[in-house]
Amino acid sequence: MRLPKTLEKISEFFRRLPGIGKKTADRLSLYLLQMPQEDLENFSQNLKQLKTTTKKCRNCLNLTEEDICPICQDEKRDQSIIMVVETPLDLLAFENGQIYEGVYHVLYGKIDPLNNIGPDDIYLKELFERIKNNIDQLKEIIIATDPDMEGEATAMYIRDKIKEIDTEEKLKITRIASGVPIGANIEFADYMTLKKSIQGREVFK
Ligand SMILES: [Zn+2]
Repeated sequence: MRLPKTLEKISEFFRRLPGIGKKTADRLSLYLLQMPQEDLENFSQNLKQLKTTTKKCRNCLNLTEEDICPICQDEKRDQSIIMVVETPLDLLAFENGQIYEGVYHVLYGKIDPLNNIGPDDIYLKELFERIKNNIDQLKEIIIATDPDMEGEATAMYIRDKIKEIDTEEKLKITRIASGVPIGANIEFADYMTLKKSIQGREVFK
């Protein structure tokens, strides 16, 4: 049996999302059918606006609806510490635990030669520009890329480039603690693990 056309189309859409098979997609579509009309309209309105209202912060590239994201605008945050993360989800993981008081820089990926992702394919240039332009105000760069092979290679690349920029060795470059069993993915790490990984960060030699 096939679902009626609209349901089928919605189910097909869900199937394009990661980790969703046909059965789950069908179930989700039918579930939507039971929700109040108002909720569905709100949802479809948000979907419609998603790409036009969401942009990247001019400073840190975090997702925001303003030019500068709320984290960069927050005067209570320590602007002298930048934590470099791979994705907005990693940023969220740190933010949800409220365990970090500095600001961020989001790379949107990591250097991954096997998949043809080089330094120019992620937001590294923006990071180095930002460091160059603010070197007098900055104290520390925490590199919080994933502790897997590509994440480590990206971390080393960042460290070497910062050293080229920071000829007077003013900046402290640290790496989140690798002794903490963080798995290979910050996004899924729990709050205690992330807290320990920041507290235990070490100078990245
Ligand atoms: Zn920002």
